[in-house]
Amino acid sequence: MLNSRATLRPTDHNHDDEVRDLRPPNALADAKIDGPRIERAIRELLIAIGENPDREGLIKTPNRVARAYAELVAGLQDDPKRHLKTVFAEEYDEVVLLRDIEFHSLCEHHLLPFTGVAHVAYLPRGKVVGLSKLARLVEGFARRPQVQERLTVQIADALMEELNPVGAACVIEASHTCMTIRGAKKRGSTMVTSALRGIFKENPSSRAEMLALIYGTEGRTK
Ligand code: ZN
Repeated sequence: MLNSRATLRPTDHNHDDEVRDLRPPNALADAKIDGPRIERAIRELLIAIGENPDREGLIKTPNRVARAYAELVAGLQDDPKRHLKTVFAEEYDEVVLLRDIEFHSLCEHHLLPFTGVAHVAYLPRGKVVGLSKLARLVEGFARRPQVQERLTVQIADALMEELNPVGAACVIEASHTCMTIRGAKKRGSTMVTSALRGIFKENPSSRAEMLALIYGTEGRTK
């Protein structure tokens, strides 16, 4: 992501010379992100908070913010389920779990970041995917204005739809800056959400096995 280049669609409002190139290479060709419009909005925001958007330190800020947002919401132009299209036939009938998938998302209520880890598990029914695809799935759904509950459900449901597994689960632990740096200011608080599907929802011992894999039988300390 760090070296990715991206394109913002130039519009008639584009006030300068530079062709904005902000869209990550994996995003769809027709990005709907209007960079110049973000820049105008950020300039307005700076004025509204009593700042001078023309002082030296802020002069490039609207453009930087536009670039940052293009990256933070890049998943909006993506269908994360595409990462689950390449499957391997495999008669493996034990739980597959990818633990501690780091993600960064954007709380849609405050447009402030929330970050954490996702644990993604499924019990295959003849079809498995590469582990990195599970991480890409999380990334794709995280990179957009989100709420943690929906992110959790979208990941579990995508697995059910694309892999038709015996069960799927997503557990997310995240810290919300809209809680930790403002409002309640509860530093260190973690929100935990889970979405259980199929056998993980219906069968208590399967659920217990999956949770034991996530948290370790002796309990994990974070
Ligand atoms: Zn929030």
